[in-house]
Amino acid sequence: MRKVYLDHSATTPVDPKVAQVMVEYMVEHFGNPSSIHSFGRAARKAVEDARAKVAALINAQPNEVIFTSGGTEADNLALRGVLTANKKKGSHIITSKIEHHAVLTTCHQLEKEGYTVTCLDVDASGLVSPEDVRRAITPETVICSIMMANNEVGTLQPVGEIAAVCREQGVIFHTDAVQAVGSVPVDVEDLGVDLLALSAHKIYGPKGIGALYVRRRTRINPILVGGSHERRLRAGTENVPGIVGLGAAAELAREQMPVQAEKIQRLRDRLAEGLLKIPHSRLNGHPTRRLPGNLNISIEYIEGESILLNLDMKGIAASSGSACTSGSLEPSHVLLAMGVPHEIAHGSLRFTLGRGNNEEDVDYVAKVLPEIVERLRSMSPLYQAASTREGDLTRV
Ligand code: PLP
Repeated sequence: MRKVYLDHSATTPVDPKVAQVMVEYMVEHFGNPSSIHSFGRAARKAVEDARAKVAALINAQPNEVIFTSGGTEADNLALRGVLTANKKKGSHIITSKIEHHAVLTTCHQLEKEGYTVTCLDVDASGLVSPEDVRRAITPETVICSIMMANNEVGTLQPVGEIAAVCREQGVIFHTDAVQAVGSVPVDVEDLGVDLLALSAHKIYGPKGIGALYVRRRTRINPILVGGSHERRLRAGTENVPGIVGLGAAAELAREQMPVQAEKIQRLRDRLAEGLLKIPHSRLNGHPTRRLPGNLNISIEYIEGESILLNLDMKGIAASSGSACTSGSLEPSHVLLAMGVPHEIAHGSLRFTLGRGNNEEDVDYVAKVLPEIVERLRSMSPLYQAASTREGDLTRV
């Protein structure tokens, strides 16, 4: 059976070139970077070379890059690290309703510990307004965290404008750029951000490794303590194979991004054209300010989960906008924050394209999905009821 992977926002395959260098640093150059002998020195050099490659991808200085265990830890370190180091300034955090749980759950936890959190609304396309950020800032505000690209609907935030508002008001600005890095150009100097989180497994690198960019002179404490690794900001023997893998993936992303982004966007648009012909389907997110590989649609009158299972039976991997919480399906917090009604959010699907996809993949999905939808709708009491009420819905 044909296999089509359209879930690159969940994770990407490790590029074979990345895997190859990782193996070298597991089997051959296995030293501890803190050791002073030749084995240790080889590992240290590899870690520092990787740091330079990650820095180059986002236009940072190498000593502004702290390796972490992934995007989640980078987000936790940014928020908690900055808040505990700036207690004298205040205890107010600004974020948005559409952040990844790595940020949202950290903020909820901090709230329980006595911090105050303002969670900003977004508009119908998923955009945070820089003016809302300005209005939310108080003399107590320490940090504002707004993601660069949303993982569900792909909306790209006006991060540069928000960072400028924060800088003007003396607020530290963090952006979760886990989905943006490697897909769109990210330049920390142009954007003017103070902190930025990224993750290797979204850019054809391994899982369990990421980084936090920390602008020089930003006051921040570690959350993991022990040895003096990572400029005392993240204790623990470095994950050398992971770091080397992230470095190699960053280098490939830098080389390939311009060509790949254009190709991926063309395929995404072709898929959108095919799928949005399905009656009672709609695009979620911003029509143009979105990640090149992201297509999020809602198909009314059926559950996204049933569609996913049927797509899986045809070898197609995608994801839905619902999450299973204590046995029941909860619609995505992102779609709900954008004002998408519950029943439409339940019928949402996310297709995220990547380097390995081609036109045949897209055309296969555009052929298979309408057939699945027709079959499921023919069994859907909701659809039958709506058809009786409104006439033949397929002709609308
Ligand atoms: N932030 C965003 C926007 C993400 O999409 C993800 C992963 O899905 C994360 C953070 C967490 O990254 P990691 O899986 O490396 O912990």
